[in-house]
Amino acid sequence: CATLWCHRRRLFGQKPLPPPPATEPSPFTPTIDLSDLQLGEIIGRGRYGSVRKGILHGEEVAVKIFPAWFRHYFLSERDIYSLPWMESRSLVHFYGADERPTEAGVEYLLVMSHVSQGTLHDFLQANTLQFQQMCQMALTAVRGLAHLHTPIDKHGVVKPAVAHRDVNSRNILVRADGTCCICDLSFAMKISGGRYYNQGEELSAETTSLSDVGTLRYMAPEVLEGAVNLRDCETALKQVDMYAMALVLWELASRCADPYQGMEVPPYRLPYEAEIGETGFRVPPYRLPYEAEIGTHPTIDQMQVLVTRNRARPLLPDVWKDTNPALRQLRETIEDSWDPDGEARLTALCMLERISELPLLWERYKGNLGLNGPLPTLNLVIQ
Ligand code: ADP
Ligand code: MG
Ligand code: MG
Repeated sequence: CATLWCHRRRLFGQKPLPPPPATEPSPFTPTIDLSDLQLGEIIGRGRYGSVRKGILHGEEVAVKIFPAWFRHYFLSERDIYSLPWMESRSLVHFYGADERPTEAGVEYLLVMSHVSQGTLHDFLQANTLQFQQMCQMALTAVRGLAHLHTPIDKHGVVKPAVAHRDVNSRNILVRADGTCCICDLSFAMKISGGRYYNQGEELSAETTSLSDVGTLRYMAPEVLEGAVNLRDCETALKQVDMYAMALVLWELASRCADPYQGMEVPPYRLPYEAEIGETGFRVPPYRLPYEAEIGTHPTIDQMQVLVTRNRARPLLPDVWKDTNPALRQLRETIEDSWDPDGEARLTALCMLERISELPLLWERYKGNLGLNGPLPTLNLVIQ
């Protein structure tokens, strides 16, 4: 397949992208009446501004605030949220957008429903999961991605496929009922075959940096290498999302308590040395993807060597014995989706289907081993 090599730019990680080229501001029409909005504390800070909790018409909301010079990013995120058929419980609910005057000029607001348990990353730091709970979180997060990726044409009203381009556990939120939804469409892009669009304009592969955005730790090998197939960017950018979602599934799976059969699940961020020392487990402690290998602030060169050249992936816990069909299926789902070859990765719909089978597989396995009654010995479980 034809691969266009795009320039590898060193603009990864937390560094903001350069401001977009100066263009005439496109007309802005508010989509929401914010006269009643009361803003509260800051609940998140990102690359282009802050997110504050608020109350609007008696409802708790989250308000993403962009300074005037990031208007372009605000408009781009607003346009994606405003596409037809974007309503899904697995995407954060979007109420509307507006601008308001400040002392320095103007700022732009995106208003979303407030998701009470915060990011998946923070949730996993504080909690371990039962198998069924993990399945529900994985299922709802992947459902959000599948919804974005799937073009919908109902009654001639079209939602194009959308690539998220920054899937990670800080861009997935946890609701009070334990389900997940995807947020942060700041890099999301409408894609269709070899065409991709931003604010209604078709962009060209030669002039647009399509693939080198996102969060360094979650970048697929082909992104790190600067070799994304831009001729079929719909497929290529979806594959990049799937790689990142596989890492998120690994994060979820690492915090699942059931396979440990009552042993303590290793805490989220033990120092590496403490991993085996105190507990004696053969299980790696939970960390961010690749944190065990290259720490908390990886460089692009480290990521390239590890992920692209050496094809290393986060380790799955030893305790995931192959004899358990549910764990085996989850492991295979993760491994298939972080395959070095993008073409070999699962699609979001396929990942969704595989995850939806896990709860029943797990119940059957438990039933066969009598785990619903008194716990069998560890030997019996492993045999
Ligand atoms: P950025 O593009 O700057 O990363 P995000 O949209 O990811 O901005 O928001 C930054 C952070 O704000 C998130 O990681 C999360 O902690 C918090 N946040 C964003 N939206 C919500 C929401 N709807 N409910 C609760 N917290 C949110
Ligand atoms: Mg974010
Ligand atoms: Mg973002």
